[in-house]
This record gives sequence, structure tokens and C-alpha cells, in this order.
Amino acid sequence: MEEQGYFFRDTWAEIDLGCISENISSVKNRLPNDVEIIAVVKANAYGHGDIQVSKAALEAGATYLAVAFMDEAMALRNKGIQAPILVLGATRAKDVQIAVEHNISITVFQMDWVQEAKNYLKDTDKLVVHIKLDTGMGRIGIRSKEELKTMEQMLRMDKRFYLEGIYTHFATADELDRSYFEQQFHLFKDMLSVLLERPKYVHSSNSAAALRFSQAYFNAVRIGIAMYGLTPSLEMEQEIPFTLKEAFTLRSKLIHVKKLQQGDKVSYGSTYEANGEEWIGTIPIGYADGWIRRLQGMEVLVDGKRVPIVGRICMDQCMIRLPYALPIGTTVTLIGIDRNEFISVNDIAKRLETINYEVPCIIASRVPRLYKKDGKIVDLKNYLL
Ligand SMILES: *Cc1c(COP(=O)(O)O)cnc(C)c1O
Repeated sequence: MEEQGYFFRDTWAEIDLGCISENISSVKNRLPNDVEIIAVVKANAYGHGDIQVSKAALEAGATYLAVAFMDEAMALRNKGIQAPILVLGATRAKDVQIAVEHNISITVFQMDWVQEAKNYLKDTDKLVVHIKLDTGMGRIGIRSKEELKTMEQMLRMDKRFYLEGIYTHFATADELDRSYFEQQFHLFKDMLSVLLERPKYVHSSNSAAALRFSQAYFNAVRIGIAMYGLTPSLEMEQEIPFTLKEAFTLRSKLIHVKKLQQGDKVSYGSTYEANGEEWIGTIPIGYADGWIRRLQGMEVLVDGKRVPIVGRICMDQCMIRLPYALPIGTTVTLIGIDRNEFISVNDIAKRLETINYEVPCIIASRVPRLYKKDGKIVDLKNYLL
């Protein structure tokens, strides 16, 4: 494949930007015209690549981006993104100048913070803020109407602040039992009722809520996991109103192939022993790539067949049992499709007893990301950024 010229190892992730676009379009088609999509691209776009995903999402109709930290917002600005960006996590009061200079919107939820931030704002500055309400997530946010009233006044009294938005976050929108969601939703509406004026953006829904609860749209939804083609939870899988297209594929290649005899051992601790004559292949991916040791025994796809990872996973390499002798250079699929077989991100998550969100996030930056659209590799220039 042509991409081999751009890096020097035989392990890579393929990110299908066509899938990202389709997922955003599918969400957008369900929303009324006055509801905007905030594409959540924190954590390097859940490990998919911040700049490429942001561009694809904006092209597909998202109008706002959201990240967790100022550093992530700056990374996007430095790569040329001009769309509005909201920092969802806490920003230090002394860093507000950076936000002003780069037109980055930030989240506020403490009076003392607002007071302190004033010391760092010049008369002509305009700091765009969204107030965060804690309606039951118990993470960050204002929890009482009284505090919200005071906060709104503080912000509206000072021309250097522009109160552009207000939002909350649901803790259980992906669970079939809707009662806690309902409780948070009603508390949010109740808290909004004390505002002197509604800001431009009122938003509450993550992917799960946006796919299930139209009453909680307000005028923007924050779409993360669904954009990447992954289900917010297994229990709500049946309630997803369209097909999500998984964008993340992880591949490697056989770099060594050998025949073992009965009793021959494989890897640290000699935990694997050949049962008879066996073909064993080595692939250059290990726990330093996020392919962690718990994945010992997990299957991978080679020549369209499922085969197991045998022996301990090393830092940079691991071994698989081949169905028969295969040439060096044969592609091995760890996540994704090979002919009629498919290993999904959910399959890996199940094996690791975790959630799908965690899987692409922990595939290390040491694994190069390649970008595909219409079946072809694109965006190599950005990959080199
Ligand atoms: C991460 C995050 C989201 C996105 O959630 P998904 O479940 O991935 O859609 C939305 N809002 C906030 C505040 C977040 O932290």
C-alpha cells in the first residue's frame, strides 16, 4: 500500500473519515434545523486524530467543536481550525488571555473563578463563556439556583464577558432506565427558569441523549462517541435509530513466521506451548502501543480467518497462531474487517471488561493514523503535522 512510504513500522490505524461524515449526517438528519451539532473532539478525537476529524465533522454539518482542555483547543487553532471551540473542562483563571486571543470559549462554574479572571482581562477583551450546571453528574458545575442567579449577574455586569451558552451533562442517558435522566432534565429546565435571559446556546445532550430524547435537544447537542460510529452503551444498542459506521481500524503485518514443534514455547514466562506442529507469526504491536497484556488470547484476523494471540504480549511485539504458513508482510487486522470477518471496537472492550470509548483512546500516539475517504488514503500532509 502507498502509505508505507510515510512511516517505518508495519502497524497503523486507519480512520475512515467517510464514516465520520456519515455519522454526523445521520444525526443531523434527525435534528430540527435550529439545533446545532457540537462535535466533541477531546482526547485527540477519541484517539482518531483531532484535526482530520474536526474537518470532517465541520464539513458534514457540525458548527461547533468541543474539547476537554485549553491545550486541545490550542492544538486545533494551531492547525488552522477557525470554527468556534468550547473547552468543556476547567480552565485556569490566569489563562483567560489565551482564550481571548484565540477566540476559544470556556466553561465557568465558580464565582471565585470569575472574580479572579477579571484580574487577567483587559478592558477591550471579550471572553466567551458557557455556564456549566451540575444537575446530577456530580463532576463540575453550579448546583443551586441562587448561585446561578449570582453567576449570571456577575457575567452580565461586566462587558468583558460574553455569556454565550449554558449547559449540563447527563450521567445515565445511555441506560434503559430513564428515571435519573428525567430527574436531571427537569432540574436543568428548572434552573434555566431563573435566568434573566437565555444565552444563545442551551445544550444538554451527549450522543446517547441526542439519539434517544428529542425533548432534551434545546438548540445544540454535543456528539462524541456516535460520530466515531460507536454505541454509547450496549444496553441502548437497540434504540439507535440508524446504522453507526465504525471509523477505527487497527492493522499490522507479519514481520516473522516460523514453524514450532510440539512443546516449543512462546514469549515471556513461556505461558504458551505448541500442541504439535504450529505456524506462529510475529506482529510489531505491543503494550506500549496500548495493545495491553490483558489482550493475550484475543483473536485477530489474518487471511480472512480468526486466530488467537498466543503467549504474553510484549512491549512492542506479540505472537499469533497462524492457520497455515503465510508470507511475511501479510496484513493482520486487530480491529476492523478482513473479508467476511469483523472484530469491532466493542469486541475489544468486552474482552477488556471496559467501554468502547476507552479502546481507541488507549491506542498510543506511537501508532500512526492514516485517513481514508471513499476507500482511498487521504490527508497524508496532515498526518505529518
Ligand atoms: C465527552 C463529553 C461529551 C460527549 O459524550 P459522548 O457520550 O461521547 O457523546 C459531551 N459532553 C461533555 C460535557 C463531555 O465531557
